[in-house]
Amino acid sequence: MTAPAAIDRAAVVAGLEGLGRLTAPGVRGRVEADFAVDDPATGETLARVDDAPAELAESVVDVAARAQVAWEHRTPRERADVLRRAHELVLADEDRLAAVMTLEMGKPLAESRAEVRFSAEYLRWFSEEAVRDYGTYREAPNGGAKLLLTRRAAGVAVLITPWNFPLAMGTRKAAPALAAGCTVILKPAALTPLSALLLADLMHRAGVPEEALQVVTTTDSRGWSAGLMADPRVRKVSFTGSTRVGSTIIRQSAEHVQKLSLELGGDAPFVVLDDADLDRAVEGALVSKIRNGGQACVAANRILVQEGIADEFTAELARRLGELRLGHGLDEGVQLGPLISGSAREGACALLEDAVGRGAEVALAGGAVNGAGHFFAPAVLDDVPADSDIATNEIFAPIAAVRRFASDAEGVALANETRFGLAGYVFSQDIDRAMGVAHSLRTGVLGVNKGLVADATSEFGGNGYSGYGREGGVEGMTDFQVLRQFNIDAPASKWQLDV
Ligand code: NAD
Repeated sequence: MTAPAAIDRAAVVAGLEGLGRLTAPGVRGRVEADFAVDDPATGETLARVDDAPAELAESVVDVAARAQVAWEHRTPRERADVLRRAHELVLADEDRLAAVMTLEMGKPLAESRAEVRFSAEYLRWFSEEAVRDYGTYREAPNGGAKLLLTRRAAGVAVLITPWNFPLAMGTRKAAPALAAGCTVILKPAALTPLSALLLADLMHRAGVPEEALQVVTTTDSRGWSAGLMADPRVRKVSFTGSTRVGSTIIRQSAEHVQKLSLELGGDAPFVVLDDADLDRAVEGALVSKIRNGGQACVAANRILVQEGIADEFTAELARRLGELRLGHGLDEGVQLGPLISGSAREGACALLEDAVGRGAEVALAGGAVNGAGHFFAPAVLDDVPADSDIATNEIFAPIAAVRRFASDAEGVALANETRFGLAGYVFSQDIDRAMGVAHSLRTGVLGVNKGLVADATSEFGGNGYSGYGREGGVEGMTDFQVLRQFNIDAPASKWQLDV
């Protein structure tokens, strides 16, 4: 296989010219203000994009609502073909999509490339699911009726996505929504709108009508979610982001009883039992902790290590993290990019300082790196005190916080000491032991001897404060549908011929 060609940053930035002018029919020509999208590794502005005012929410819903019936009435095969073409277009455009993602979000290019392929997988999977109707048929037990359970599109869907996976969060929601027959209003995070704009362009080229997929860029996310959800024609909202904003969305949905899917914050326990394969466990921790610079909802937030292996594990993790190469994500060999913003970095520094101040042992001294960009060198803390902020908050930075435990039962109890329930991880060479511990965790997704858990073909989502609803798999699409029961009168005198 030949190595991918080096990315010409200037050419990629020049190619963004005009991308930020919104063309969604509901806002076209009506947006005057704009805002800057900056490269978190340099602070330089990459592009300016339209800052749509929330007063246009009604107009955007008008367009989506008018397009709803026509999109919903396309045959499943037609919707599937469109998504299949979008899958191919996204893959064909990997170089540009990955470079833009790295520029706006900061992750290393190899990770952006992996996200492009992961994102495309949702388009492929839901192009396959679009033609599958998971209805049921039953005979009424007492006779005289046939019962059909069918699904239809929920209606206009609003998709609100975070900055950390700017492309994958878009396809993970838009693909099942469109497959189900919903028209879509996609509102990406203001920090990373470029990937969503590129995605929409490709999806339109694949055949999604521009009225059926509108992207809105704005710095007024609060105003837009309030405006969109105040409209009773919006029937479905799929949100990924913090639990704090998710709670607001739940309250906003109450007035018009909109159906919700919420992928919220995480506090993943990463449990290493004393018989774990050391290399596998360290590699898993590295992937789970460092991917996206630690800024993932599924990142190992609390690394819980059994006493017999803790010294070796922590030393090896610190060694590996200490070797990572920091830098601009487009530069060759870079393994860790910057954090997304100055405030994210300040938050990480505060967590580190608080934990060390309370007595955590420093196995690898990381922290803010001086200079342009929001760089933060990885840190490893051992014996993190239970009362430190880092033990109870979503870290969202490359800080590995290790706590030790004695028995399996104690490990499980520590792991479950949280209101969140998104991802959990267990490492052990004894599969019975690993599965026993894994079954005892209350998370919605479990990694057993591996640090990567999401897969387009299987349901992903959290429990407790991590939200509800699932993305990917079968439920990823049925979450965008509503159920209908047909109770068909079938009297034996007419439907059962005595022949
Ligand atoms: P965030 O909640 O600040 O923002 C998420 C989205 O909501 C963005 O589009 C933002 O513009 C919008 N938003 C912000 N304030 C709003 C408001 N008052 N009303 C309506 N919309 C508003 O989260 P973030 O900082 O972008 O992302 C990080 C969070 O997302 C973390 O907690 C992370 O765990 C979570 N996350 C969860 C998953 C998952 O699958 N469960 C995946 C990725 C990220």
